[in-house]
Order: sequence, then C-alpha cells, then structure tokens
Amino acid sequence: MKKTIQYGTTVIEFDLTYSDRKTLGIKVFPDTHVEITAPLNTTENAVIEKVKSKANWIIKQKEFFLSFHPLTPPRKFISGETHLYLGKQYRLKIIESKEESVKLYSGYLVIRTTDKLNKKRIKHLLHNWYQQKATIHFHTLFEKWTLAMLPIIQKEITLSFKWMDTKWGMCNAHGKITLNTELIKAPKKCIEYVIAHEMCHLQYLNHSKSFYKLLTTYYPSWREAKSRLEHFMV
Ligand SMILES: [Zn+2]
Repeated sequence: MKKTIQYGTTVIEFDLTYSDRKTLGIKVFPDTHVEITAPLNTTENAVIEKVKSKANWIIKQKEFFLSFHPLTPPRKFISGETHLYLGKQYRLKIIESKEESVKLYSGYLVIRTTDKLNKKRIKHLLHNWYQQKATIHFHTLFEKWTLAMLPIIQKEITLSFKWMDTKWGMCNAHGKITLNTELIKAPKKCIEYVIAHEMCHLQYLNHSKSFYKLLTTYYPSWREAKSRLEHFMV
C-alpha cells in the first residue's frame, strides 16, 4: 500500500509491504521510488518512526539517482551518462569508429560513431536503436497478449507505435492499437500493462467499472505496473 511521511519540507512517498522477516528493509530504486518491507506484526506507527529515522538517507539516495536520471532533460549523450532500456540503467560508452553501431555490452550501451563529439548524431543512433528494439519487443509482447486475450478479441487488430509526449498507448474503434515507443525504456511488465489496457478497450472504449473488471481478470497486478510506470516518468 502507498504511504507518505513528512520530513521537514519534504514528502516521502513509499510502498509498504509486510513479509515474514525480522527487520525493516528500505530500498530506493533508480527511478526514485521507495519500497519498505516490514516484519509481519509491525504497527504502522513503528514503520513511520523507522522511516523518519532513515529519511535523510532516503533523500540522499533519491538525489543520487535523480542526479543522473535518464529522463531528466537535457541529455548530453556523452560517455558515463545513463540511459534506460527495459527498466534497467545502462551507461553510455561512446567510441570513435569508422563503422557506426549501437550494442549492449555488460551493463554498457556502446555507441560507435564516426564523430564522438557530434551529439545530434549520437542521439539519432540511439533513437534508431530504441526503435529497432521496440519493434522486436512490442511485437513479441503483443502476440503474447493477443493469445491471452483471444476470447475478447472479436476483430482483426493491428499494432503500431510512435513517440508520444502524453500517452503510453491508444486504441481506436477499428482495433488499431498504438504504443508509445518510449515504453521500450520501461520494464516489460509495464509494457504488458499498457498492451493489456489497450486490448481491454476493444471491449470498452472507456474507463468504466466494467473496463477495470476486465483488466483485472486478465492482468491482476495492473495497479502495480501502472504505478511503476508513473514513477518511472518523473
Ligand atoms: Zn485507457
């Protein structure tokens, strides 16, 4: 469940879960969301006191991640900068080379380019790489969900994607589903949530109770994926 504490002028939001453990665990993730896991019998007050006592550390961690947050403009496209792919951070390594390429290599996003200082070119290469990856992963996940949701799919559906600023996905009355290419930076479970969400629109072109009931049937943990996605785009 979502909780917040006030620490000085800062509000810290966190996800609280309980588990069979002895001590309270605090994790701050690169997208700056905070997860607290508490032993089963801990009272909420005890949790809040503990989180307050660790607030300074949590804020420092968040600032640390924010300092190189991949979605915080402006991006510099230089070696060492981190960029996201399927929910994970990768460090850029720019190498001057006669042949241009973009490859993942043990935690690095290695970009070979003819001009190391040409940021526009590097940005373009990376953009194309994301697009290629999106083509592969979106189609695979789309097929997976087409099979899973076959009972509600009454007509032919198509998939397309483009870079969008304000939407993760769209679905029209003709069965055309559009995904935001930017989603390739998010964890797979978030991409799947958007696909399942849009496919439910094949049945209901609104966000009614019936819509959410359908979504819950096919994707029970959609709330978690949605909140992950919202925090991912800070
Ligand atoms: Zn919708």
